Amino acid sequence: MKILVVNAGSSSLKYQLLDMKDESVIAKGNCDRIGIDGHVSAKTGDGRHIEEDCNFPTHTEAFEKLVEVLTSGETKVIDSMSEISAVGHRIVQGAEVFKETCLVTDEVIDQIDALAELAPVHNHPHALALRACKAVIPAGTPQVVVFDTAFHSTMPRKAYLYGLPYECYTDLHVRKYGFHGTSHSFVSKRAVDFLGLDKDNSKVIVCHLGNGSSISAVVNGECVDTTMGLTPLEGVVMGTRSGNIDPAIMEFIAKKENLDIEGIMNVLNKKSGVFGLSGGISSDFRDLNDAAQSGNEDAANAIDVLCYGIAKFVGGYVAAMNGVDAIVFTAGLGENNIVVREQVLNHFGYMGITLDKEANQIRGEEKIISTPDSKVTVAVIPTNEELAIAHETVALLK
Ligand code: ADP
Repeated sequence: MKILVVNAGSSSLKYQLLDMKDESVIAKGNCDRIGIDGHVSAKTGDGRHIEEDCNFPTHTEAFEKLVEVLTSGETKVIDSMSEISAVGHRIVQGAEVFKETCLVTDEVIDQIDALAELAPVHNHPHALALRACKAVIPAGTPQVVVFDTAFHSTMPRKAYLYGLPYECYTDLHVRKYGFHGTSHSFVSKRAVDFLGLDKDNSKVIVCHLGNGSSISAVVNGECVDTTMGLTPLEGVVMGTRSGNIDPAIMEFIAKKENLDIEGIMNVLNKKSGVFGLSGGISSDFRDLNDAAQSGNEDAANAIDVLCYGIAKFVGGYVAAMNGVDAIVFTAGLGENNIVVREQVLNHFGYMGITLDKEANQIRGEEKIISTPDSKVTVAVIPTNEELAIAHETVALLK
């Protein structure tokens, strides 16, 4: 069974074609610069590769190109699109309308589009991509939508409500939704299997740390809290996003710097996080680690702020769940950054967590990194959001 996974943004269409027999990647790539000019980068599992400038006025032309690179030329991997059993689409915001993965209908696309108010950057492009996909794939091929927010829909009211006038929730739908749900779901399930936990009696904290980062608390396989909120700006300090701040800072900076709300949001989304904290050195942790190691104090401070913040969220979730069986690190930073894992875990000596420093010297590998006598097991579990979407797609078809 072959599943095409699509992650569409406003100007890009990332894809992976997966063979579910052995979960291998048959092809992957990106049709990007949609609405600007157009560019495709396509790779096959056996190492063939093309890069080409194109003309993508809309998502439809990008999808047509996607079909072309899969079915013809240097990167051909299938004879026709009818070999694909289904298309699974990543959708950022499902809000309270979509609590589960579902099949795409015209009404579903309209509802996803209508939720654009809650996710302006993502949901409208998703709807455009869904319509474009429908136009280019064979009529009988099911399309499935998998929501970033769905895994978090089990959060209790006390976790998702903000301390705002209640009408903000009832009338404006302002609440915590959480994101990276497919990753938190995939990794927390894998943690239960890999660590031999009892699924129905387990408390797991997943630290998905990448450019965008979020942490979730998962009890018996269900999310009970997560750090991202109405938008992916809330929570831990990220690559360029601020994470939590005193909301009054926005007014303060606006007045001092003469910025309007777009200007302020630009600062919080693009100029903050470890990038901003380090005085603009980089949002990439490899650069920050190098700079810190060469004695750059701003880089070291940025890493300190991030790790301290992560530790406070993890500690908060231990309290929220009244205990924890496993803490898991995943995504680019969580899987690869030895220093960040060590600095975060240094905060938990009081809980009897001991890091196996030698085991921690790994990158991108599934491994337990706590000592055998540690009171809580700590592990690195690589995430795979495309595979998670493909699994969800297959599960729905069944
Ligand atoms: P996102 O999907 O949110 O864009 P990723 O999950 O790809 O982000 O994570 C990107 C982050 O992971 C970057 O800060 C990068 O520095 C870090 N990272 C990736 N590989 C390594 C590595 N080998 N060593 C240290 N950090 C790494």
